[in-house]
Amino acid sequence: MQNCNRRDVLRMGASLAAGMGLSAWHGDIFAKGLDEIAAGRAKVLWLEGMSCSGCSVSLLNAEDPGPVEVLTELISLVYHPVLSAIQGADAVEVIHKQVEGGDYLLAFEGAIPTTMPGACLMEGKPLAEILPAALRGAKAVVAVGTCASFGGIPAAEGNLTGAVSVRQFMEQQGLPVEGRLVNCPGCPTHPQSLLGTVAYVAAKGYPPVDPTLLTPNMFYAHSVHDECPRFHYWEKRVFAEKFGDEGCLFKLGCLGPLSHTNCPRSQWNSGANWCIRAGAPCTACTSENFARKRDFPFYRKCETYYTASYTEADRQGVS
Ligand code: SF4
Ligand code: SF4
Repeated sequence: MQNCNRRDVLRMGASLAAGMGLSAWHGDIFAKGLDEIAAGRAKVLWLEGMSCSGCSVSLLNAEDPGPVEVLTELISLVYHPVLSAIQGADAVEVIHKQVEGGDYLLAFEGAIPTTMPGACLMEGKPLAEILPAALRGAKAVVAVGTCASFGGIPAAEGNLTGAVSVRQFMEQQGLPVEGRLVNCPGCPTHPQSLLGTVAYVAAKGYPPVDPTLLTPNMFYAHSVHDECPRFHYWEKRVFAEKFGDEGCLFKLGCLGPLSHTNCPRSQWNSGANWCIRAGAPCTACTSENFARKRDFPFYRKCETYYTASYTEADRQGVS
């Protein structure tokens, strides 16, 4: 299936790294990983739990490599619930065959219901019954998006389905997490962060991660606040009072200090724009606390001046 040549792969690896503000060293690693995947030496099985499929749609927004290259030449995709043409019993057979054969990377999108089994079914059975074998057989597991990484919206306050993250589910099942699970949060996850992570794992194995959040350092080490183009306003205490104003968006509810990701470098939609450049506060969609409290609006009037040491406790008003 490999139609792209060595030069294409090197270009795409370099482009992927440059687009995310990373070094040429990362570009070489991404190129090696993309080559492994394109040659079918690193197969990817994608499964989905409780999710809006937004992360799958986000993958189609990838650029250089773009969606056509990703799906037809690069990702050796065994099965994808949204993008694969194969469905029903044929899809189930393909999934089982791959799980039994092992030797694949598992990309998992969405949260997993544990107290309402019927909330998510595969082959007519609760996902929680099917998933352990797929997690056990995988060489590495990539949790795609905030729902898979931290529970996200399905696990929000109330949580009738008992939704849990991939990590919580693996721990409940007694499956090893360390050195196997990488979290790529975001609502949705950035396509280039996901591709870069999968390529890194294919080339070099488990990447350096944050020890608590299990997010790959190459994409999630810095906060949005650290690299925000409005940071100079923050330093001068110039705050926007209403949407459309010049100034730091903190008093309109910006959670950039609590969100670790590289949106300021990569931006979105092929670098066309991103939340803060469009004048919208960051909602910290990569945070483990994203959308967890039912009484916490995404955008709000915040009358308090916090400092750069703003914490999650400050956000919740409990400090
Ligand atoms: S609070 Fe938000 S808008 Fe202000 S500097 Fe930080 S990230 Fe940028
Ligand atoms: S700027 Fe904030 S809300 Fe927007 S995509 Fe990035 S992390 Fe999510």
